[in-house]
Amino acid sequence: MRFSHSRINCFKTCPKQFEYKYIKHLFPIDGDSTSLILGKAFHRGIELGDVNELEKELDNNQDFLDEGTETNKVIVLAMVEAFFNKFPHHNEGNVKHEVEIKTNFGDNEFIMYADAIVEEPDGLILREYKTASRIDDIYINKLEFNDQISRYCLAIEQELGKKVKKIEYYVAKKPLLRQKNGETLEQFRERLVEKITEDEDSIQYFELTRTKEQLEEEKEDLIYDMNMINNTKRYTKNLSACSCYGKCPYLNLCMREKDAELLYEIKEEGDERNEGE
Ligand code: SF4
Repeated sequence: MRFSHSRINCFKTCPKQFEYKYIKHLFPIDGDSTSLILGKAFHRGIELGDVNELEKELDNNQDFLDEGTETNKVIVLAMVEAFFNKFPHHNEGNVKHEVEIKTNFGDNEFIMYADAIVEEPDGLILREYKTASRIDDIYINKLEFNDQISRYCLAIEQELGKKVKKIEYYVAKKPLLRQKNGETLEQFRERLVEKITEDEDSIQYFELTRTKEQLEEEKEDLIYDMNMINNTKRYTKNLSACSCYGKCPYLNLCMREKDAELLYEIKEEGDERNEGE
């Protein structure tokens, strides 16, 4: 089996959800969640480095064409514009976005997409861009042992043969502002850009590192997790996870609702970039 961070985490969150998604390849017909759509568009905007280019792309993006999605478009454009107000030189230097890395740990293939990798003479910088509904102390504390970061550092160092000297982690909080009565979308966007740019907490930057010992421990954990999944014969439910990150998209199936299967379609092996966290 091919592994990725999101596949392993899905299994650890709820083996039944893993079975629906990665064994039966079932996906909800109504598509990705709004937060995943916004997160992908935010990252794409940073990659393009130009909010006007992003706007052109979103004008042809099905996720932003449906009725009622204009506000989402305005929000993501404002987030990207504010990002470049805060970090105007962000894409300078030897930066590569969406870097695919495939490597093997033991007999298992591991695939990842680094949001960006910056190559400098004394090592690599891994960049990750996230969107979150809240950034509290627990969120920040967990970055110190966030296993996605550690796994990515491991895979990059193993495959590219260079040290990851630091991780630059950007988290944008989805703004809570709403369009006012009588306010045009353009006025709303301007207000959002101003607010996000001024507010220190709206886009936070964290600089992190991983020690050799942390990476060695993570490698053992990663191989253990992958072997555990390979050896699984039964995918049990974890009811504590049904409302993690909003409602589980497979709730209708677990509830055995009548005709629930009509709400899903079978898709071929997906692209890990579309799997969310
Ligand atoms: S509804 Fe709950 S038990 Fe069922 S797959 Fe989702 S998280 Fe697992």
